[in-house]
Amino acid sequence: MISKTTIAKILDSAQIVDVISDFVSLRRRGANYTACCPFHNEKTPSFSVSPSKGIYKCFGCGKAGNSVNFIMEHEHLSYVEALRFLGRKFGIEVEDREESEAEVQQRLRSESLLVVSEFARDFYTNALWTSQKGRAVGLSYFKERGFSEETIKKFQLGWSPEGRDGSMSAAALRAGFKKEFIVASGLGIERENTGELADRFYDRVMFPIHSLTGRVIAFGGRTLRTDKSVAKYINSPESDIYSKSRSLYGIFFAKSSIARLQKCYLVEGYTDVISLVQSGVDNVVASSGTSLTSEQVRLIRRFAPQVTILYDSDAAGIKASLRGIDMLLEEGLQVKVVLFPDGEDPDSYARKNTPAQLKDYLEKSERDFIEFKIELLSADADKDPIKRRQLINEVVTSIAVIPDAITRAVYIEECSIKLRFEQNLLAREVNKLRKVRHPYASGGRADDFREPVNPVQIPDLDTGDQLPQFVKNIYCEPAEKELLYYLLKFGELPLYGKDEEIQSTITVSQFILAELQNDELEFQNLLYKNLFEEYYKVRELNQDEIQRHFTNHTDPGIVDLVTSILIQEHSLNIKQFLAALIPEEKVLSLVVPKAIMVYKAKITSIAYQELRDELVKTPSDNYERQSELMNQLQTLMSVRNMLSKELNRLTI
Ligand code: ZN
Repeated sequence: MISKTTIAKILDSAQIVDVISDFVSLRRRGANYTACCPFHNEKTPSFSVSPSKGIYKCFGCGKAGNSVNFIMEHEHLSYVEALRFLGRKFGIEVEDREESEAEVQQRLRSESLLVVSEFARDFYTNALWTSQKGRAVGLSYFKERGFSEETIKKFQLGWSPEGRDGSMSAAALRAGFKKEFIVASGLGIERENTGELADRFYDRVMFPIHSLTGRVIAFGGRTLRTDKSVAKYINSPESDIYSKSRSLYGIFFAKSSIARLQKCYLVEGYTDVISLVQSGVDNVVASSGTSLTSEQVRLIRRFAPQVTILYDSDAAGIKASLRGIDMLLEEGLQVKVVLFPDGEDPDSYARKNTPAQLKDYLEKSERDFIEFKIELLSADADKDPIKRRQLINEVVTSIAVIPDAITRAVYIEECSIKLRFEQNLLAREVNKLRKVRHPYASGGRADDFREPVNPVQIPDLDTGDQLPQFVKNIYCEPAEKELLYYLLKFGELPLYGKDEEIQSTITVSQFILAELQNDELEFQNLLYKNLFEEYYKVRELNQDEIQRHFTNHTDPGIVDLVTSILIQEHSLNIKQFLAALIPEEKVLSLVVPKAIMVYKAKITSIAYQELRDELVKTPSDNYERQSELMNQLQTLMSVRNMLSKELNRLTI
């Protein structure tokens, strides 16, 4: 926890140009600075930094934000870590909330476990390179697999010897490590009767598992015996420093290339990762034995929006894993699939082919996951109606978890063609499932693409159900965001341009507030509502200062939202004006009332829908309630028509 005062101090001192110029060479152009974007590959600069607004934006890849966002993005740090980073740079003391005695103990304990693990890593690598059996069995195994010495060293592969004398635990004790930590790290096991320490890993080749920052947190060990009574792989148990569900094998080595290439390959085992990296494919990780968890997915998403899963050709294995993949979609990742030829896995394919052939294969065989799923499951669905129903259910399940509305719509369209299933029905099935899955979910993400607004269209939902709040949010969101756009960009300008004959004394922000208050309207999206309300608290500042206030806000959600609004050159309505090259501030008298109108039309539509649903549910013998509802519907209908006429008049 960092206090708000400290955050404000950091944001104040961390001038955007000072922060960014540590990483990127900026060139002055007018009031701003430009550079080649550090977040995507480009030859001509489209990355722009505005010292006055304290924000950066890239017109190529769309990345934007303030100093803290830049550090988070560039250094792959969390919000708090980025604040600490900037605090250090600008000499601002970032107070740690007083650690309790228990927390201090916990921290020291974790550090002790890490040190034991690193001792073990050195012990195992030493055994691999210097002991006779290590070289004869372990090292020659790795070499047979085609790993170069450089690769073996990079991944810190090792050998765990057998026998009490060669025991890792004994060596650790001799080196002064406490028994307690050797046991807690999972590397040593205390014998019940004698209290002696035995090694968990012996007579195995060793794969250390690294944390995101490169510390060794666990090991996987593979036996080379053919004896079936011995488990082929064993892994460190969970410990204070190792959580299986939150670790990905290879992430430390892969993270920067995943971020650079905006894509992560996902494979099954340690050797798949190592072989691919040796063949020049660096952006690869493995979930190492466990099925993928949502924490692992979020870890990947910190670095890239796309995951490509590499499958060997075992059909049963693929089918078993399909459900797990929905989790990737659910986290908003784009998911692709590469299927290897019969009998090959990523490791064997990488060994048999040149790096160029491998890259070529990965590129050419990559396919969209949902499309792949349809093909995989439709093999015998053609003639069997029950199987066909199952197939459609499967596809609907996958589409329904995708958070982005536009992506869902695109999939619905494509899949309706592939499945030969009517698009509306498919959309309806998806909506039904979404309602079940996310009854209380908040609105779409702030960066959701804005849909073109069709003001008097009633949302397409099943009748007979309540409109869930999240539908209201999603439905109203573009209109609400449009109003915030006018507030943040032009709130303190007069509504009617200076050239107007009648000088208006009302500002854009006053007009919007009055209109909403008259009709007792409130924003549906909570974040938008907070921003809206705070705007009216800082309104006495000038427009630039207001923008700075929000781009340097201590709430990162507000910063994200505001920068995404500010980097839009024009509102959607205004885009149509671009051709005519009329400056936006000249048409405020037209577009702001229109934005209000669109918003009201949306609210009305929702009210209309709700009444209609209630009418459907009202028992047919309750005439009184029915006629009451009919009257209200009629009123709303006329409001809708009025709004619609008004909108047509305002249509530009
Ligand atoms: Zn960029």
